[in-house]
Amino acid sequence: MSTAFLVKRRGAAVLGGLDAAVRRHPTDQTRLVTFHAVGNRVDGDIHRIYDLTPAEFRRHVDAIAGAAAEAGLPFRRLGEWPAPGIVVTFDDGYADLVGTVAPVLSERGIPFHCFVTGDRLDAGDHRYLDRAALAELAAVPLAGIGAHGWRHAPLDAMQPGERDHDLRASRSSLEDLLQRTVDTMSYPYGRVNGEVRGAAQRAGFARAACSTWGFAPPESDPLLLPRIDLWAGDSPRTVRHKVLGHWNWFGRLS
Ligand SMILES: [Zn+2]
Repeated sequence: MSTAFLVKRRGAAVLGGLDAAVRRHPTDQTRLVTFHAVGNRVDGDIHRIYDLTPAEFRRHVDAIAGAAAEAGLPFRRLGEWPAPGIVVTFDDGYADLVGTVAPVLSERGIPFHCFVTGDRLDAGDHRYLDRAALAELAAVPLAGIGAHGWRHAPLDAMQPGERDHDLRASRSSLEDLLQRTVDTMSYPYGRVNGEVRGAAQRAGFARAACSTWGFAPPESDPLLLPRIDLWAGDSPRTVRHKVLGHWNWFGRLS
């Protein structure tokens, strides 16, 4: 882990604690929380924050549930936004969604939404869901499925035609496989600008999550929903503070 990140993270935890001591944040705003892998290595994860162990994932879920109870916030499906609550999301489509995540969250009755990268399904990489596993995940009653780009490339760096193709392919591949409407997505690497947002809308997406830090109040642009990142190494106290809004100033630093 880089020293700069470590310092920023420690500083953020201290400031989050101070914020928690002096203020309460509104409870009428949805917070989308972001996970990646639980037990699978994440490419490019230089700070090693996106792969949780199953035990740590359970502790994070317990901490989120505690914060939810404290704030009187229900867990919600992404499709219920902007109704206030907590929406649990996963990026990239790791294979552990079926074996680890779905059982843990189903047992607790917590809905969750999985943004799946199209071309990983056929990549033969055991870290990611393949088509059969995705179908299995989609059959889990509390699981929602959304797109995460066709080839997980930064959409803002593509030419317009390539971008349109990537977005349409990301959606149609999932719809063909699952035989259901897929109109939600998250932007690979959180990379989005006005052109990317417009292309997502033209491709038929109704809701899209980015990596901008913060709550998603009802007045948010549904195609630019902010989220709150949960990391490996976060203490239960930090997870609680993040969900309750005490890290909401963090987006201005990152
Ligand atoms: Zn991703």
